Amino acid sequence: MRKASVVFFLASLLAACGDNSGGSGTQTSESTELKNNSTPTVAPTKSILTGKFSPSETTGFTKVPDEMASKPMFIQTEVLSAFERMREAAAKERINLYIVSGTRTFNDQKAIWERKWSALFSAGKDSLATANEILEFSSMPGTSRHHWGTDIDLVSVEPAYFESGEGLKMYNWLIGHAGDFGFCQVYSNKEETQRKGYNMEKWHWSYTPISTIYLKAYLEQINYSDIQGFTGDKLPARLRIKEEFVQGIDSRCAK
Ligand SMILES: [Zn+2]
Repeated sequence: MRKASVVFFLASLLAACGDNSGGSGTQTSESTELKNNSTPTVAPTKSILTGKFSPSETTGFTKVPDEMASKPMFIQTEVLSAFERMREAAAKERINLYIVSGTRTFNDQKAIWERKWSALFSAGKDSLATANEILEFSSMPGTSRHHWGTDIDLVSVEPAYFESGEGLKMYNWLIGHAGDFGFCQVYSNKEETQRKGYNMEKWHWSYTPISTIYLKAYLEQINYSDIQGFTGDKLPARLRIKEEFVQGIDSRCAK
């Protein structure tokens, strides 16, 4: 009897660890009810979907090699492999792809959000106007695809960079080839694709074999009560963040 209790205790402990670390490949998420046949290596737990975890301590995340990143960062191991293949192909066309932002935690996003909030709010804008302006390009903490380790920003986050010269050549190459490696521009031209949410981001690419599953899990698991803990956190439901921003992606990237 006592032996059985110990075994049960150990089993519970392992299950709890798996939940925090994002799983080991054998774990399947009971709460997500994935309809997709493939199970991602890192299960889309609530903590990972909202960025409340440590990428450096989570199985299935790998540090991006220095020569491929502008600063120390982690992304999912499978995403890194795909990026490396894409980077090699681009290099043959003398295009140097590197990542300027990978996985960002809830606290990373909170720092970005609140820095922008302070600047706009102190300049005299009210809460709603402040949030709307930040939301042109930046997510509320707990709602960013960068939490997932599936999405990367490449080379520059300035729209102008991609309008001419090397940036334009890079963007045109990505449009033609990124899909071959599993990457898709989720924040495409809003007028052309009739999506809602953030403005166009030519630098933001999502590894859709995993992120499609994560988006589905996010919509099933995350409620507005989970999106709080930052300045302006009374606004997510009013601004329909889940419907217009989390779901506001190019439909071609959701297949
Ligand atoms: Zn991004």
